[in-house]
Amino acid sequence: MQILKPKRILTCDDDFTILKDVCIAFSDQIVKIAPLNELKKLYPNAKFIDFSDCVLAPAFVNTHIHFEFSSHKGQLKYGDFLPWLGSIMEHGSEVRADEERVKSAINSVLKSGTASVGAVSSFGAELNALVASPLRSVIFTEAIGSSAEKIEQSWGWFMSRFDAVNALKSDKFIPALSVHSPYSVHKELAKRVIKLAKECDLICCSHFMESLAERRWLEQAKGGFEAHLKRFSLNTKPLYSVDEFKSLFDGLHTLFTHCVFVRDFKEFDKSLHFITHCPVSNRLLGKRSLSLNKIARAGLCLNIGTDGLSSNFSLSMLDELRAALFIHSSTELNTLARTLFRAATSGGARALRIDAGEIAPAKLADFALFNAPLCEDFELAAKIILNEKEARALFIGGSRVF
Ligand SMILES: [Zn+2]
Repeated sequence: MQILKPKRILTCDDDFTILKDVCIAFSDQIVKIAPLNELKKLYPNAKFIDFSDCVLAPAFVNTHIHFEFSSHKGQLKYGDFLPWLGSIMEHGSEVRADEERVKSAINSVLKSGTASVGAVSSFGAELNALVASPLRSVIFTEAIGSSAEKIEQSWGWFMSRFDAVNALKSDKFIPALSVHSPYSVHKELAKRVIKLAKECDLICCSHFMESLAERRWLEQAKGGFEAHLKRFSLNTKPLYSVDEFKSLFDGLHTLFTHCVFVRDFKEFDKSLHFITHCPVSNRLLGKRSLSLNKIARAGLCLNIGTDGLSSNFSLSMLDELRAALFIHSSTELNTLARTLFRAATSGGARALRIDAGEIAPAKLADFALFNAPLCEDFELAAKIILNEKEARALFIGGSRVF
């Protein structure tokens, strides 16, 4: 047992409660939150850790990240989605990271106070580095392939990578599945992946409605996607309507990533569908950002991902939240900061089905410590997001990472 004394605790519960003059007792889980003298009486042999100049908060949960694309040196085109997608297909092998790059990416994730990630795995190149790291990783093995003739080939490639993830499965290395997108995965392949997710009780994710071009393509079978797909000799008819694609995920715990061009969020299932927001990636690849108000009105759980370094300048959740504070400039600053902080902690934990993301008894002891700003409680989230470049300390499952 350990007892940690912070200056304030940002619980990230539903009311965004902030606690003062209390400590937490924890092992791999948070056991009790109470004044120090009470905890010392209950646990006289516990190790005491003094962080009385820090704010304790749940560690961040980065729900969408591509570690494999961590070697971008400027080859990729920013500004609009389709030129970017074309540049990824052209330079994909150049921006793929070797193990050293993946390790350094993981390190930057940890330094920002992140304990858990949803890692989309396209090739399996990041698995060894993730297993060896302290991170709690949900690995979304990605299915991709739009050709009807090559379904068996695409399925075989997908299953070989999924088997490799399954062989490494542990409490901190959790298999999950991904259907890349409505424009890149054949119906038969998607159905097989979803059947597997249901049979094995795995969560799923998909890129969805990331660009206006994607919406035009699915709704009207026209726009820039046609020329893009022809360029790569790919299927030049939409594989689904919007509703057809979304209904594949009925009854399945699914993270829908981006959703910038979703027309009606009320069509999602509040208990099973989660909206993953990648603010910087959306900004770099287009002009519109996700409507946080629409998501709140539909009662959906918001969570946040950095996406990969192929469409970001950083994998730090602090950088991502800082950017989001400026991107969503029509919302009052402190209200927005609290929404973002919860999305990046409790929202992410719910989305990845991890029992963390809040400072409360029985939750996993995944928490970060940040320098305590001299501010009122209602400003605390904004001040941490604005001022902190790295966490002062990080605990995952009760073990101190740094
Ligand atoms: Zn992505």
